[in-house]
Amino acid sequence: MRAPERSEIHDMIHGTGLSLGTARGAAMQFDARSAIGLADSLEPNTVPVDAVARFERALSATITQIDEIIEHGASRFADVVKLIFTAHRMMLEDPAYAGEIRKRISNGESPEKATATVTDELSESLSANHNERIAEKGEDIRDLGRRVLSNLTETANEGTFAHGRVVVLKSVFPSELLRLAIDGAAGIVLVGTMVTAHIGILARSLGVPVLSTTSDLALAIPDGSEVVLDATRGVLYPTADAAPPDTTVASSEGDAVEDRVESALAVSILANVNILADAYTARRYADGIGLYRSEFPFIIRKGFLSEDEQKDLYSYIIGSMPGKPITLRTADIGGDKLLDDDAAESNPFLGVRGIRFSLANREAFRTQLRAMLRAGIDTDLGIMFPMVSTVEEVQEAKDELVRCIEQLARDGIPHNGSPRVGAMIELPSAAIATSELAAETDFLSIGTNDLVMYMLAVDRTNARVADLYRTHHPTILRTIHWITARVGGAIGELSVCGEAAADPLMIPFFLGLGIKKLSGAPRRLRDMRRYVTALDERWCRDTARSMLAIRTIHEMDEYLVELESQLHELNDRVTDATSAAGGST
Ligand code: PEP
Ligand code: MG
Repeated sequence: MRAPERSEIHDMIHGTGLSLGTARGAAMQFDARSAIGLADSLEPNTVPVDAVARFERALSATITQIDEIIEHGASRFADVVKLIFTAHRMMLEDPAYAGEIRKRISNGESPEKATATVTDELSESLSANHNERIAEKGEDIRDLGRRVLSNLTETANEGTFAHGRVVVLKSVFPSELLRLAIDGAAGIVLVGTMVTAHIGILARSLGVPVLSTTSDLALAIPDGSEVVLDATRGVLYPTADAAPPDTTVASSEGDAVEDRVESALAVSILANVNILADAYTARRYADGIGLYRSEFPFIIRKGFLSEDEQKDLYSYIIGSMPGKPITLRTADIGGDKLLDDDAAESNPFLGVRGIRFSLANREAFRTQLRAMLRAGIDTDLGIMFPMVSTVEEVQEAKDELVRCIEQLARDGIPHNGSPRVGAMIELPSAAIATSELAAETDFLSIGTNDLVMYMLAVDRTNARVADLYRTHHPTILRTIHWITARVGGAIGELSVCGEAAADPLMIPFFLGLGIKKLSGAPRRLRDMRRYVTALDERWCRDTARSMLAIRTIHEMDEYLVELESQLHELNDRVTDATSAAGGST
């Protein structure tokens, strides 16, 4: 393919905002920054000291910096900082990296050249691995190499990182996205990247505008030239003067502070939390955490964590909302994300995912349950199982939980001995088995993101079938009605935690069916709260009844147009919330 010319890139570049907001800053072409390129651009240190000693000094300076980051890292990102940088520290101690550099220096290469070469070779060979988990480590090595090189040449580290810049990159791993946010990137542009559900979810957690585009024109924007990113409108302006004057550069959505309003309908507004930063964003407006996606630490670390490490992370999350109910979900992850190649599946969405994975990997499951119980002491703690398809899975998982509690008690380790136990309803089989699941649990949560995917057989991450992904599909609404009708007296303990929980066109339906708990993305909570406050119970019931009577998608689309105009009339506040409605997943 012909590389785009510089002259072709004055027009705006379109894409999809994964995390809304606007940013202005110098472009940073991330992929072009190989360690060799960086080494060439740095002034070699001219002080004539023994080359190996100079490398050792740079290495220990790097270790000290990393330790400082771990100790004093920004509190908002304390959990991910710990996850990423403790892994970096371990890599620095791995002979495959530092040992190889030492060998080359002893053979007469300069420390800069040796560090750059080993960094590039190792990162390229890791990145080429077809196992995504291993490939991702290539990026960690690149990052580390840059840090060591900066210390070797005594250049400021900041110069090599993303602070204040709009970073353009082709492939992105979750840990890399996080590192860019921690480094203070003003905005991020992903070019032609396959956006997995986890990348999409993470992007929204970061509070940094992120645009995904298929246009590789973005890759031809000169490094350092001033650009304007408007992820809310889905546009990148390759030169600052191309941006319309009304492109205000503000922080991302939902940051405004206003007094919290209480809902007349007595609905709990809860937060979906992926990383600690979410809990900080949410806590002003949240009555608690309705869903903590505990697989994120594993995805960021690219492997399992020890019981103590997990306990520390969960304690951060729990500590962010003292006195409020916290629901920790056990890892909803496929074997392909954590194990080596023999776990590869041709269809991981239908494979060993969620509770199936936990039950098949008991040691890892027990470690996680113990960590949750230990972190959840003196807390209104809920432990929830994902991807449940049979009642037996819940029974087995509960048995394991009871064994963990007994063991902790026997060992005299402080823990929460009576957590509430819940299951997610996100598979058709679980929806049909609602009564039986309700009898086995203390609470249930409808995960609409997956429920829609599995009911309609539409991959939630596949843009080609995005038009078929419809939360308002009559079948979905009838399924949700089926669920609410079968939880019986436990309706007060039923929540919705998919993206639909924040959708103004779904909220009246949920409330009309008697659902009292909505768990949404942190940046949506303020609007959810204002909106719920403006709604009338009887009107919600009538609306739910009307929506349930609709039999076709076409009629539903017509009804939604009408509903939207009714909502506009209902209240000025509601108008704001409606216009802030985003996409599905
Ligand atoms: C869901 O499926 O609706 C849900 C909340 O879980 P996740 O998005 O983590 O799959
Ligand atoms: Mg799900």
